[in-house]
Amino acid sequence: MRTFEYTRADALETAVALLQGDPSAAPLGGGTTLIDLMKCGVADPSRLVDLTWIPGHDAVEADASALRIGALCRMSDVAAHPEVRRRWPAISRALLLGASQQLRNMATIGGNLMQRTRCGYFRDPSFTECNKRDPGSGCAAMHGENRGHAVLGTSEHCIATYPGDLAVALTALDAVVHLLGPDGSRTLPVDAFFLLPGETPQHEHPLRPAELITAVEVPASACAARSSYLKVRDRVSYEFAAASAAVGLEVRPDGCIADARVALGGVATKPWRERDVEAALTGRPASAAVFREAAELAAADARPRRHNAYKVELARRTVERALLTLSATREDEER
Ligand code: SF4
Repeated sequence: MRTFEYTRADALETAVALLQGDPSAAPLGGGTTLIDLMKCGVADPSRLVDLTWIPGHDAVEADASALRIGALCRMSDVAAHPEVRRRWPAISRALLLGASQQLRNMATIGGNLMQRTRCGYFRDPSFTECNKRDPGSGCAAMHGENRGHAVLGTSEHCIATYPGDLAVALTALDAVVHLLGPDGSRTLPVDAFFLLPGETPQHEHPLRPAELITAVEVPASACAARSSYLKVRDRVSYEFAAASAAVGLEVRPDGCIADARVALGGVATKPWRERDVEAALTGRPASAAVFREAAELAAADARPRRHNAYKVELARRTVERALLTLSATREDEER
């Protein structure tokens, strides 16, 4: 039996100090990832610093310029928030398509952004090759079962897929992550919050020791207000994405696209912004032909492995369908 200490923090500053004083301690949010990893022997913290008893940091606030989500908000509360549903629907949709209702009721927004890959080799220590779990040991997925693995952003050291949904929507909508650490607070664009595996797949975020997420901020925009999230998976619920797309469109009265946002999930090692697709949409008519043409540019630098080549075409079709569905919804609402 593994033993660990459990401490309830009463303030984020206290939690930072506790984590700074014990480098093998880990922050605990809803526990929906960390407790799993402890059970399967991948995580072995000496102490859990429970953040969920800290007052504040669990509010959703929206004004004319931005949405601010406290790191301790529960997924289900954010998904159901009327302003999120109305002005940032891709975020609500991405949250609702993640996990199960029970898990969404437990999981925090900060913990959601920190979730680890579902690579089976990573989560099963009986496999000795995993550079993410044991740097320098190799990558069992490279020559093993890799149907669910990434085709974008991979390296020779790791091809693990980023598993989340929320961060894909946040990436499309230019969110910013607020952090607090021993040296004070700072912010990072969400795209910079997720690292490519490169030669060090064990490092997934540029977090400094004892640094914690305090909030996520998402700018208000016409694209955010007209956004959606489409998730394609092997079964209809409680499953990770084979491919997903967060899309947003601002369409002018003449029917041309003034601004577009596209990000992919389920196919890359981090939430994957598709700026070439956005550029191919901007300034052109919001039509099925343009959507198809632009979607063909998605996953352009894909590097498929033995079992996952299907993800390249699936990613393109997911983007096209997400754009078509979003555009059709808009037309319905305007009638
Ligand atoms: Fe480990 Fe990454 Fe390889 Fe999976 S893909 S076995 S997480 S190194």
